[in-house]
Amino acid sequence: MRTQVVIIGSGPSGLLLGQLLTKAGIDNIILDRVSPDYILGRVRAGVLEEGMVSLMDQAGASKRLHQEGLPHEGISLAFDGQDHRIDLTKLTGKRVIVYGQTEVTQDLMDERTKSGAQGFYEAQNVTPHDFDSDQPYVTFEKDGVTHRIDCDYIAGCDGYHGVCRKSVPEKSIQNFEKIYPFGWLGILIDQPPVDHELIYANHPRGFALCSMRSETRSRYYIQCALDEKIEDWSDERFFDELRRRLPAVHADNLTTGASFEKSIAPLRSFVAEPMRFGRMFLVGDAAHIVPPTGAKGLNLAASDVHYLFEGLREFYAEKSKAGVDAYSARALARVWKAERFSWSMTTMLHRFPEMGAFDQKIQEADLEYLVHSTAASTALAENYVGLTY
Ligand SMILES: Cc1cc2nc3c(=O)[nH]c(=O)nc-3n(C[C@H](O)[C@H](O)[C@H](O)COP(=O)(O)OP(=O)(O)OC[C@H]3O[C@@H](n4cnc5c(N)ncnc54)[C@H](O)[C@@H]3O)c2cc1C
Repeated sequence: MRTQVVIIGSGPSGLLLGQLLTKAGIDNIILDRVSPDYILGRVRAGVLEEGMVSLMDQAGASKRLHQEGLPHEGISLAFDGQDHRIDLTKLTGKRVIVYGQTEVTQDLMDERTKSGAQGFYEAQNVTPHDFDSDQPYVTFEKDGVTHRIDCDYIAGCDGYHGVCRKSVPEKSIQNFEKIYPFGWLGILIDQPPVDHELIYANHPRGFALCSMRSETRSRYYIQCALDEKIEDWSDERFFDELRRRLPAVHADNLTTGASFEKSIAPLRSFVAEPMRFGRMFLVGDAAHIVPPTGAKGLNLAASDVHYLFEGLREFYAEKSKAGVDAYSARALARVWKAERFSWSMTTMLHRFPEMGAFDQKIQEADLEYLVHSTAASTALAENYVGLTY
C-alpha cells in the first residue's frame, strides 16, 4: 500500500488530523491497535477551548458539538468554605464548551466513515520504519497477515504508551517529567451537576472537582492517595468525602446517584523534545502529558494537530517545507505554556504529603489574591480559555 501520511493512533489527535488532511485532499491511513468501541469506552476530557472548536468546524465535524455542547463563561474556585467565580468571558471575551471527548471522537469517526478514508483497527505490532530517510514506511499485522504502507510522513498520534516515541533512538530525544504524589478518583453519574459551571475546590482534606458532561450527566473527582483501591470506595463513601471538601452552598445541593464509571488516574507532567524526527512527528499525548487540573490535555493535542496540518498542507499545496520544519518549535512553545499552567493549578489546589498548616495558609492566600486581583484573575482566565495558536 501507499499513502501520503500514515497516522498511528485513532484518538482525538489522529482522527482530527486525518479529517483535516482528507478535507484538504491529502491521502492518509489511520492505524489503531484497539477497536473503535474500545476507544469510545474511554472516559476522559470534557472542556474544549475555542481553538479546538474551530478545528472541529474546519474538519466538518462540529454540528452536534454546537447543538449539544454547553458554553461556559466562568468557573468557580472554592476554598476556606467560600465559593469565588472567575468570569472567563468578562476577563477574556472568550468561553469554553463542555462536550465530552467520547462525543468528539464519535463525531470524528462518523465523518471519517462518511468520507470513505481508509483505516485499520485492531492492527497489531504497528511499527514505523526509516523515518530518518526519505522513504519511511509502516508495517502492521492484521488477521495474521503482515502489511506495509509506504508514505511521505508518519504522524505519531499514539498516546503516551504508543510505539512512535519509543522508536526514536535515546540519544535523539530528551524527556522532561514530573510525577505527582497523588491521583484523582473520578466517577460518572446520570444526575444533574451540582452547579452549571465547574467548581475547583482546595480543601485541607484534598482537592475536589465538580464537572459535567451534559445537563444530566455529572463527572466528579476527589484527590486520593496513589495506593487507594477502587473497591474500597463505595458511591456513598465517595459522596461523603466530596461533600466535606465543598463549601456548604454546594455540598447541600449535591444530587447523588449510582455511578456507572469509577476510576483512579495518576497525575503526571511530561514533555518529549523535539516533536519531529526526520519524517515522523509526535502529536498530542505521544509527546506530552499534563495533569488534568486546567483541562489542557485534549486542547494541547488539538493545537499540535493545527500546527502539523498547516505544515503538511503547505508542503503538498505549495511545495514548501517551512511549516513542517517549524512544527516542533511552534508546538513546543505552546506546550510548555500549558504545562506551566497545569502545573501551577495543580500545585495551588492540591494537598501535597509534606504540607503543614503553614502551606495550607499560603495556598489560601494565593487563591485569595487570585480571586481579588483583576490582573491575576485575567492571567488565569486567559490560560484557562486557551492561549491563541
Ligand atoms: C484517565 C484520563 C483522564 C483525562 N481527563 C482529561 C480531562 O479531564 N481534560 C483534558 O483536557 N484531558 C484529559 N485527559 C487527557 C486527554 O484525554 C488526552 O490528552 C487526549 O486523549 C489525547 O489524545 P491523543 O489522540 O493524543 O491520545 P489518545 O487519546 O491516548 O489516543 C492514542 C491512540 O493511539 C492508539 N495506540 C497506542 N499505541 C498504539 C500502537 N502501538 N499502535 C497503534 N495504535 C496505538 C491508542 O489505542 C489510542 O486510540 C485525560 C486522560 C486520561 C488518561
